[in-house]
Amino acid sequence: MSATSDPSSAAAADFVLRGAGELVTMSAPAAKGLGAIADGALAAKDGVIVWVGREAELPQAVDLAPDGLEVDAQGRCVLPGFVDAHTHVPFAGSRAAEYGERLGGVSYGEILARGGGINVTVKATRQASEEELARLSSLRYDSMLRHGTTTAEVKSGYGLTVVDEVKQLRAAATPHALRRELTFLGAHFLPPEYAGRAEDYVRLVCDEMIPACAPLARWCDVFCDEGAFTVDQARRVLVAGAAAGLSTRIHADELARSGGSMLAAELGCASADHLIHATGEEISAMKAAGVVAVMLPGTSYTLGIQFAPARAFLEAGVTIALASDFNPGSCNCENLQMMISLACQGMKLTPDEALYAATVGGAAALRRDDVGSLAVGKRCDFSVLAAASRTELPYHFGVNLVGDVVVGGRVVVRDGAVIHDAPALDPVSLFARDAPPEYGGQL
Ligand SMILES: [Zn+2]
Repeated sequence: MSATSDPSSAAAADFVLRGAGELVTMSAPAAKGLGAIADGALAAKDGVIVWVGREAELPQAVDLAPDGLEVDAQGRCVLPGFVDAHTHVPFAGSRAAEYGERLGGVSYGEILARGGGINVTVKATRQASEEELARLSSLRYDSMLRHGTTTAEVKSGYGLTVVDEVKQLRAAATPHALRRELTFLGAHFLPPEYAGRAEDYVRLVCDEMIPACAPLARWCDVFCDEGAFTVDQARRVLVAGAAAGLSTRIHADELARSGGSMLAAELGCASADHLIHATGEEISAMKAAGVVAVMLPGTSYTLGIQFAPARAFLEAGVTIALASDFNPGSCNCENLQMMISLACQGMKLTPDEALYAATVGGAAALRRDDVGSLAVGKRCDFSVLAAASRTELPYHFGVNLVGDVVVGGRVVVRDGAVIHDAPALDPVSLFARDAPPEYGGQL
């Protein structure tokens, strides 16, 4: 790879991917085929992409350092790493039994009234040490990586005291290969000790939690909905967050049409999330303000409720993101492949629209221009499917189609297993295998 006809014009690289039967760059929208390149390749230096194109052009275009890493996708499909713009990772405890009860007909109201539901998660999270929360988060980050997510937004919101919110954010920041955007969500739920005193709790959030948590996060979020916080309370929290230097996003219009997305438009939030009850008025306001609509179909699936009007957002020209809402109560799933499948069925997205929303859309919701697509200047974050085509993703559902994952030009998942403490560069073809790739669609 070092010999080129004109070395001066070749891009210097320390990482090369070749053999991508389909390299989905996301340089074009769904209607234009997502910028997929047949027989594609890319090169990176210091974790940043320096060249993307057809493999046939690689020898002339790229000068790979002698100790660089060269990997071969062996005809498989290569996708940008998923960008999951909405997760609640650092929590303790399980609510699996409660899920079974709900499926058996017990209402969430009844469960909450006896101290169950989110109260169980808050109690377990408060009792857990920072080290235990970091260990649990790290295991969940491993799973996200294995399923092809390379960047995730991660919220607090189960501590609900100054000390416990700080503890959650510190745990969420545990060292890991997954790229993260941390979000303070102290106004997630009114903790039981503040029952009937929502105003006092909002004051605690604004006056004490935000100053303590702002240095640990980039974002401030609030659950603005029926049974949660009002528009006025949510406005105060987000304004206080912004004053402390945090950018803003909001849980809006999930349980009722409660004004959250209009507030997002008013305040210029980066995203409004859930939006099941959003109508044309909310959609127009979000479009005008440039608010990204985060779609969370796994929550509708888990709760057995309607899906958000994703098509109406798309048709109005609003950028949509597709995220997991990974959390212990309403969506215990960190697999964005599953969300793509659910969005296709439940929200009537095309497979390419769903893929675009899970990558470029997620990046837009996090206001990041360095992830979500494979182009010069972007991070070298991608996954290699155990399939030749992206069309397998919504179709071969409920299984993990991601075989290998690279973050920043470093292999972090190989054959479905996370590689911890992988060297930054390893001059071995780590993707080389004895057996031919499994093409799910032919089974
Ligand atoms: Zn959420």
